[in-house]
Amino acid sequence: MINDIMNFLNIEDKDMIITKILTDGNIKEVHLEKSLKAEYCPACSSRMYSKGKYFRKINHPILQDGYQLILIVTQRKWRCTNPQCNLYFNDQFNFISKYKQSSNITPYMILNEMKNIHVTTADVARKYNISDTSVHYIFLQFLDIRRLPLPEILSVDEVFLDIDYKHRYALILMDFNTLDIVDILPNRWEETTNAYFLSIPLDERKKVKFLICDMYNLVLCQEFGLTKCKKFS
Ligand SMILES: [Zn+2]
Repeated sequence: MINDIMNFLNIEDKDMIITKILTDGNIKEVHLEKSLKAEYCPACSSRMYSKGKYFRKINHPILQDGYQLILIVTQRKWRCTNPQCNLYFNDQFNFISKYKQSSNITPYMILNEMKNIHVTTADVARKYNISDTSVHYIFLQFLDIRRLPLPEILSVDEVFLDIDYKHRYALILMDFNTLDIVDILPNRWEETTNAYFLSIPLDERKKVKFLICDMYNLVLCQEFGLTKCKKFS
């Protein structure tokens, strides 16, 4: 079962170990950490010492065999023993960032369901066998993910969330070719999109050749300096 889970999570970090798996009802809690080995400072090559651990809880949105997976990842904090150097870092796990990208699809499926204005958060929660709170959580968690670089064809789609007044509609930015989610904005307000896109360097924004969006979003075209808009009916 441990190997199954490692494969399932697509974990390639070689020194990653599963220390325990707890099952409670339909929730499977998987504890992961790096196997303990000597660490040397990348700056001065002195030995590093462990300053303790902290735990990170990740709700894996995909169900495995009907179980909801919760990953508890232990990360060690390291500090260089050389007092002149004092460098410190935390254990890094490739799979965490990778997992965020490769499992893009489930949050998207959930958000996609909400495009239907007649579907409520509760309906979606029931369908995916998760709580209302989890649906909100998936959405909010998704907001923390670092965005992907802007693609040549950017599709901007809105989803109806109705979490609260500020989060009634979210904007999903997608790469039209690969269907990767580039980012999700918490709402579709002009001040949000303005601040967001203007914070992306102009060079990168210029890489966007086509923007696919609803017509009310013409303001987005301005943010990209795209003056020629074509209406598809
Ligand atoms: Zn050092």
